[in-house]
Formats: sequence, structure tokens, C-alpha cells
Amino acid sequence: MISLGIEGTAWNLSVGVVSEKDVILLENDPYIPDRGGIHPREAAQHHSEKMGALLKKVFLKLRETGIEPEDIDIVAFSQGPGMGPCLRVVATAARVLALKLGKPLVGVNHCLAHVEVGRWICKAKNPVTLYVSGGNSQVIARKGKYRVFGETLDIGIGNAIDKLARYMGLKHPGGPRIEKLAKKGKNYYELPYVVKGMDFSFSGLVTAAKKLYDSGIPAEDVAYSFQETAFAMLVEVTERALAYLNLDEVLIAGGVGANSRLREMLEVMCEDRSAKFYSPPKELLGDNGAMIAYTGLLMYSCGFETSVEDSKIKPDFRIDEVEVLWD
Ligand code: AMP
Ligand code: MG
Repeated sequence: MISLGIEGTAWNLSVGVVSEKDVILLENDPYIPDRGGIHPREAAQHHSEKMGALLKKVFLKLRETGIEPEDIDIVAFSQGPGMGPCLRVVATAARVLALKLGKPLVGVNHCLAHVEVGRWICKAKNPVTLYVSGGNSQVIARKGKYRVFGETLDIGIGNAIDKLARYMGLKHPGGPRIEKLAKKGKNYYELPYVVKGMDFSFSGLVTAAKKLYDSGIPAEDVAYSFQETAFAMLVEVTERALAYLNLDEVLIAGGVGANSRLREMLEVMCEDRSAKFYSPPKELLGDNGAMIAYTGLLMYSCGFETSVEDSKIKPDFRIDEVEVLWD
């Protein structure tokens, strides 16, 4: 079976095509703001302007590999969570494409897709997933369905990093730039370490880091102190989920997972607990269409299909709302 998936919940407009065996094609047309952060309406405008050309490119490239439009078996799309205006563009394109090709439509939960593509590519069985992206930060594991064992009480870690970066005059996305600065940091300054039960929070940390920067502490040390504090919070909750559930695999998902310091901290924790650490390649770590295509395929193979009437966007769609019928 061949599945085409459309992602566009935030910055990355992306179309992926997969079979049960592998990723056949992945094409991205990201929205990069000239200044400031991601503006939902501007991102949606970008997606609607670029969608037609991106799909055309995908179909042309598919033809080169011997796959015709009618060979596509399902059209999957990111139904939520995400930015409303962006989701609407994605859902509209997916409906049109499914109707035009006469193929079934499958609405996919974006967070679930991050987890499932990681499990698939890394061959992980039952991992605790640390999902860290711009808008989301969650510790997820499966017990029957997928459950959220810990999550941010305010903003996502990626958003927190981007806010601090912007404040220090760095361009969006701030993640890689903060990482580069942090590598040169020498002194650690204490910042609020906020873990409440199994949840964490980042907005107070951002405010405190901004104050540190304002007080004349070098940007390198601010970035370093921020990363050490925020990542320790994430790793602590991941470790506690691992211990509580008695599991032995950790999977990283989401764009912030590209950060080498976060990965290093997770690796050390996993080594201490004799757990395996899994990370998909970078192009499948952040938002991408292949993860939507793959998860659509998985869901469809269990009899799941989304009628046009049920294809309304779900900006607050949670992973624990999804019935999980596959292994
Ligand atoms: P996603 O929403 O999953 O595509 O992830 C996007 C987020 O990942 C943005 O907030 C980026 O700043 C962040 N990001 C990307 N690369 C890195 C990095 N190397 N370190 C930290 N954050 C990163
Ligand atoms: Mg994401």
C-alpha cells in the first residue's frame, strides 16, 4: 500500500509518501518568518500559496519512480493539534486530493505520528517517548492507548528556546543558534527548575534567563545555563516515567530532539538504567509529511477512515483521545 501524508500544523509544509517498508519521498517547503516568531495567519498564507506547487512536485517525482497518482491508496493529513489557520489549509488540500483521486482520507494526530514514525524507523517496541517541539513538550508511553505521563504546563520547550533567542537578537528558529552559543558557555548560573509532579513549566525559566541576560551575563553563559536547566527537567521526568512503567527504551521526537546536549543527557540517563536510546534521522525528527503518511497507513490497516464530514480540524487534539488498535 502507498500512503501520501500532508503535514502543516505550524512552520513546515511537508508532503511524504511511504509504503509499509520505507519512505519513498519527502518534500518540504518550510515557512521561515522574516522577523519575530511564527505568526499563525502568515504561516497559513504561506502554506496555501505553496501547497499546489509542492503537491505537483511530489507527483512529478513519484512518476520518475514509476508511481502514478492512481497508485496512491490513501491520503493522510495532520488533523491536529496545531495552529487553526494552518490546519485548515492542510485539511482542505487533503479533502480535495482524496476526492479527486477517489481514495480514502485518514485524519492523523500529529503527536501520535511523531511517536509512530520513530518506533517504525528505529524499530523500538514500547518506548517512553520524549516529544519536544515548538508547541508541544510531552512524555508519552503506551499503556493500552498512548498516555501523557508528563507535559508542559505552559509553553513548549522549542517555543521557550525561540523566545529567549529572539530576546537575545537571534533569528528564528532559535534552537540551533542557542545550541551553538551554549557550547561556548563556561559558567552555570542557577535558573528556576520547575518540575511539579510529572509536569514541567518553562515560561518562568525564560523570564529568569532574560533577566540574567539583561544583567550583563554573556549570551553564551545564559544559553548554557538555560539548556542545562531545561533539559535536566525533561530528562528527570523521562527517567521517572521509565522507572514507573518499568520500561527499557527511550525515543526522542520533535525538532528540539536535534539538540546534541539534550541527546547526550538522555544517553547518559539511559546508560545508567541499561535502557536503549533511539533517535530517528533529523528529517523524521521534526515535523514532516512522512510521519503523517506512515501513521495514516497504520490506522487505515486497522480499518480506520475519516469521512469528509468528520475531517474537521482539531486544534486541541490530544494523543490520548486516539484509539490504538495496532501493535
Ligand atoms: P518541530 O515543531 O518539532 O518541528 O520543532 C521545531 C522547534 O525545534 C523549534 O522551536 C526550533 O527552535 C527547535 N530546534 C530545532 N533545532 C534545535 C536544536 N538543535 N536545539 C534546540 N532546539 C532546536
Ligand atoms: Mg511536531
